[in-house]
Amino acid sequence: MARVAISRVATPVDEERIYDAVKKAIDDLGGMEEFVEPGEKVLLKPNFVSPRPPPVTTDVRVVRAVALQVKEAGAKPIIGESSSAMTHWWREGMETRDVMEMLGAVDMAREIGVEIEPFEEDGVFKSVRVKIPGAVVLKEAEIAELPLRVDKIVPIPVLKTSMEGGGITCCIKDLHALPNTFTDRLRWHRSELWQKLVDILRLVREKISLCVVDAIRAMEGDGPIHGNPVDLNLIIAGDDPVSTDAIAAKVVGFEYPHYEVGPIALAHSQGLGVGDPSMIEVLGEDVEKVKRRFLMASCEIVTPHFENVLVCEGAACRTCKAWIKFTLYMLKDTGFFEQLKELGKTLHFYVGLDPPFPSDLDEVREMTEEALPIIFGDCAISAVKNSYWVLSQGELRGKVLLMPGCPPFACAQQASQIIEALGLEITEREAFKYVPT
Ligand code: SF4
Repeated sequence: MARVAISRVATPVDEERIYDAVKKAIDDLGGMEEFVEPGEKVLLKPNFVSPRPPPVTTDVRVVRAVALQVKEAGAKPIIGESSSAMTHWWREGMETRDVMEMLGAVDMAREIGVEIEPFEEDGVFKSVRVKIPGAVVLKEAEIAELPLRVDKIVPIPVLKTSMEGGGITCCIKDLHALPNTFTDRLRWHRSELWQKLVDILRLVREKISLCVVDAIRAMEGDGPIHGNPVDLNLIIAGDDPVSTDAIAAKVVGFEYPHYEVGPIALAHSQGLGVGDPSMIEVLGEDVEKVKRRFLMASCEIVTPHFENVLVCEGAACRTCKAWIKFTLYMLKDTGFFEQLKELGKTLHFYVGLDPPFPSDLDEVREMTEEALPIIFGDCAISAVKNSYWVLSQGELRGKVLLMPGCPPFACAQQASQIIEALGLEITEREAFKYVPT
């Protein structure tokens, strides 16, 4: 039977109490010696997706606790990651090492004598092209060289709900940093994302000996970036990433994660682990006593989050809608929606294979009096291709925006395009960078 351990972090939460909780969960599973051998190289893979503090990213103190215990077992921990912040056209435009520095991981690693090795440095992603036998979607990919070189991998994600991750982002989604961000990471970001994650899991499954989930400050709502913090003060550990994710999902309200959470369901059905909670023994804290129903992530655009926004979809993927929302959240952080209201305009997103975009250009002209129409994604652009030349080159240029991509990832540029088209003040790309408070 698969086993997952849950331990509680005593309050007030501090480094020592986190260490104790991580140790308790691992000891309940048999101790670190069960999972690593002396002399082995062990990749510790946190979620440092961006320079934002927990719950966007893994608490550095959890990574520290795992690193120390790996060292105590005689193995060699290496902290490795490839942050999404490095893709400048998407988010902050900084390298993973900068993100690690901002999060305090570099200082922590120096203090405890542990190596840090970002998957990419100076804009170069160190990867190897590999075939993935048995893969369903990702049959071949550029994979970071470090995870392929080490003996063991320990995912250390933070527990969050996710608009794209199929319900939650945890151990399986943590592996999305392994494909080269400039080539394979962003491909198949549509519905195939879940299967792609499972294909990556397939590649490294044998190396994953232990998973440690930071559920101290978790995230509910529109994760993985824009949700709300929830203090659960828990550590969840297991030797099977599928089981560990399943119990983590159950803790936040998914009763049947092997049906309800995309990547868990696929991994379970493809035999890469156990996702059915009835087949998992939970040690330590009683899952029924610690679980809490989280607000789930949603790809729908709702007020009061976003006023004066209309999404007109026709056969659109969930992912395109998620990236509309990422773009809107980027605008929200700048006070854009107050200015939009003052202007008396609305944003109309047209998305999907068959969006209800008017075929009559007079109707489009009329619409632009009160709204900024945005044709979002390759499908929608293809659907309006007869009007494409008029929209992009003619009198409506700048009054109707075209945002290509599948899905369109360039949130910062897309947000800038919207601001500029409306003639608003916020034009600096700097406005979209995360500034620590
Ligand atoms: S562009 Fe089309 S296929 Fe691509 S994510 Fe959007 S709706 Fe889906």
